[in-house]
Amino acid sequence: MSEKYFATGQCLCGDIKYTITTPPVRMGQCHCDDCRKTSGTGHASNAFFNKDDVHIEGDTSSYDSITDTGSTITRYFCPKCGSRLFGTSNIVDNIISVTAGTLDDSSWFKPDAIVYNKRKPVWDYMDETIPAFEEMPPISPR
Ligand SMILES: [Zn+2]
Ligand SMILES: [Zn+2]
Repeated sequence: MSEKYFATGQCLCGDIKYTITTPPVRMGQCHCDDCRKTSGTGHASNAFFNKDDVHIEGDTSSYDSITDTGSTITRYFCPKCGSRLFGTSNIVDNIISVTAGTLDDSSWFKPDAIVYNKRKPVWDYMDETIPAFEEMPPISPR
């Protein structure tokens, strides 16, 4: 793996590949209804980056959904294998999230916070030392 990237990743089939040049601005896990549905598991694990620092090769499909607070989240996935890779929000246009499970090496990933903890399924065990919020806490822009 080239040392000029902070991280690299791809979808299951390899049609979508990405490189990231800098460390994330924040990391989180979300148990909201939409993240559970799109991940097919108990939560989504996302690292957030400045859009300019994430370079994507390949054509993704996307799906828009409206959050509890009225913003629109667009989730991007591979049209062939279905891996969910990225997310964007219409209210923070310079930030993109990357799903931690699609990283080639995710050993650096450590959530700053767990959100929508009230929707956490009982079978989804989390590290109790990570700050957990019942809903989405106010996030200061960076
Ligand atoms: Zn794929
Ligand atoms: Zn969520």
